[in-house]
Amino acid sequence: KKLADRYLKREVLGEGTYGVVFKAIDTKTGQMVAIKKIRKRIDEPLDGVNFTALREIKLLKELKHPNIVDLIDVFQYKQNLHLVFEFMETDLEAVIRNRNIFLSPADIKSYLLMILKGLAYCHKKWVLHRDVKPNNLLIGQNGQLKLADFGLSQIFGDPDHEFVDQAFARWYRAPELLFGAKKYGSGVDVWAAACVFAELLLRRPFLEGSTDTHQTRMIFTAFGTPSPSQWPDMMYLKYYVQEKYIAAPPLRTLFPMASDDALDLLSKMFTYDPNARISVQKALEHSYEV
Ligand code: ADP
Repeated sequence: KKLADRYLKREVLGEGTYGVVFKAIDTKTGQMVAIKKIRKRIDEPLDGVNFTALREIKLLKELKHPNIVDLIDVFQYKQNLHLVFEFMETDLEAVIRNRNIFLSPADIKSYLLMILKGLAYCHKKWVLHRDVKPNNLLIGQNGQLKLADFGLSQIFGDPDHEFVDQAFARWYRAPELLFGAKKYGSGVDVWAAACVFAELLLRRPFLEGSTDTHQTRMIFTAFGTPSPSQWPDMMYLKYYVQEKYIAAPPLRTLFPMASDDALDLLSKMFTYDPNARISVQKALEHSYEV
């Protein structure tokens, strides 16, 4: 049985944030694809998909870049929205966890550059990712890294907490989000990319908070409590609470193996004030030597 007269369904790959993902063959191209069946939300009309979502998805189809997982097709089948993506072999989380894989400083830099290039392309088009984390960074057969799930959180809203364990995403959340900022920008992707960069250096998650409060405390412990001069707007944020002063330990003590240049870039990406945080474009221009 073919879906949309085109895709031959194969095995289920996993259950994701927005619904089940399965492997399929695109009979039009012979290419292997991953199809995301988007779970219906309670507030949606019963007789079809949300048209606003559909229109925005069409925009995502226009995003074409070597470091973005290609959205090949979008179709509706049995009242469910299906997104067809190019099939990717593995993801960065599996690479980081696999102790048999040696990551040289050059490998780490190459992964970071691919993340930044994908983000730069989308930020130029005013699309934020908002969910950068190692299992959203997919790796193709040739080792190419591509960002997955671009723009989905903007379209479908934050995933339903009842269905999804959000613990993962929390570790990559920027301080302005933890403080409840309603207005935020591309800086949230830079912070998340910095967390992935740190994780590549450490081979384990850097800031593993078990609650949002714990997450904030871990950030303060690593970088010191932010001072008003460092981040003037922070006290206007909804969940900002003044904490007991913690001094920042030298970043070097947290990343003994990293080069000076790597640490310099890392610290610029981990800047508290989102307005002072380095942009993806500037991060790409940074003279980071391994
Ligand atoms: P999450 O929302 O938790 O990040 P996803 O919805 O992205 O999960 O994916 C669920 C499962 O499908 C995961 O096991 C993931 O590896 C797999 N998957 C997602 N996209 C692709 C793809 N393009 N190619 C191959 N596997 C994929």
